[in-house]
Amino acid sequence: MRKGSLNSNLKLIIPSDEVPVTRFLTQSGTFKDGDLLVNKDGVRILSQNEDVPPTLIKPSDDQLTLADIDVIKVIGRGNGGIVQLVQHKWTAQFFALKVIQMNIQESIRKQIAQELKINQSAQCPYVVVCYQSFYDNGLISIVLEYMDGGSLADFLKKVKTIPEPYLAAISKQVLMGLFYLHHDKHIIHRDLKPSNLLINHTGEVKITDFGVSTIKESTSGQANTFVGTYNYMSPERISGGVYSYKSDIWSLGLVLLECATGKFPYSSPGEEGWDNFYELMEAIVEQPTPCAPADQFTPEFCSFISACLRKDPKHRQSARELMEHPFISMYEDLNADLAAYFTNAGSPLATF
Ligand code: ATP
Ligand code: MG
Repeated sequence: MRKGSLNSNLKLIIPSDEVPVTRFLTQSGTFKDGDLLVNKDGVRILSQNEDVPPTLIKPSDDQLTLADIDVIKVIGRGNGGIVQLVQHKWTAQFFALKVIQMNIQESIRKQIAQELKINQSAQCPYVVVCYQSFYDNGLISIVLEYMDGGSLADFLKKVKTIPEPYLAAISKQVLMGLFYLHHDKHIIHRDLKPSNLLINHTGEVKITDFGVSTIKESTSGQANTFVGTYNYMSPERISGGVYSYKSDIWSLGLVLLECATGKFPYSSPGEEGWDNFYELMEAIVEQPTPCAPADQFTPEFCSFISACLRKDPKHRQSARELMEHPFISMYEDLNADLAAYFTNAGSPLATF
């Protein structure tokens, strides 16, 4: 890839009148013909030699700009904003662009910049890579690694329940991601839920949106942003107590139990779910802890869930301890092929 300089042997052929020029334009208005790209920032030649692939962008490059990417389509929506599939103009790499809208004060903006820096510095195969983040005119844009299977929430809508051998393989990856965040980075995720676990066609499962939840909490009027977001919150957090890494383990337990049974573990009074947010919060604090039904699941799975879902965080196991739990290793001989499982189930999202 070269930027700015034109080879003297290069011939420019203007499209004939019969070919509409729009055929050569990308969505963002870049003129593209073969290897040649022209936009307001200048001319680029992707590669003059077919044998030399463009150098792919790495998170450490710190060179990605919004002008360099084309939006392909919207792939998801959350409470805070939208997620789009985008493609880098010069390298053809795909990314997910998350745009969060917020009106904020200067001091909070600084905090956000700090959080995003943490996000960017995280380098672990079990955590979604953040390539770049921008703050512009009330919008925060985050360029993320694109996970072509979408989220576990999307996947669960398709398959309804996930059998134990696959769940063990998924849990193992999530635990490694959590171990990295907790142990190496000293980060509490705070918003672990099915839509923040992303999957791809190679069978990878990665944690996303750590840090983003802190931003949301510190910037939004809390009362009206509760919708569906705090279902996985631990009892000690709901009660306003001190919370720690173990709070994420509670969320993990609920997520895995939901994946296994196909239902959010706290049964709701109405068909449509909890219509009163405070009732659900009360149930999490007051009701007995949910558990996996012993007649449908192995003792190992039931014990794993119970090790995550202890009301007292001191009695909950850590990510490291859970990695040693028999449930994580009991299906290893089966070699559950997550790549085939994710691909064959035809994840509804984010495919081209
Ligand atoms: P909330 O806003 O309450 O956190 P959420 O996690 O569903 O909810 P987003 O984080 O905006 O909201 O994500 C919305 C959807 O976008 C996800 O469910 C997923 O389908 C998709 N998505 C998010 N990040 C990526 C990514 N890096 N690659 C592919 N798809 C993604
Ligand atoms: Mg999310």
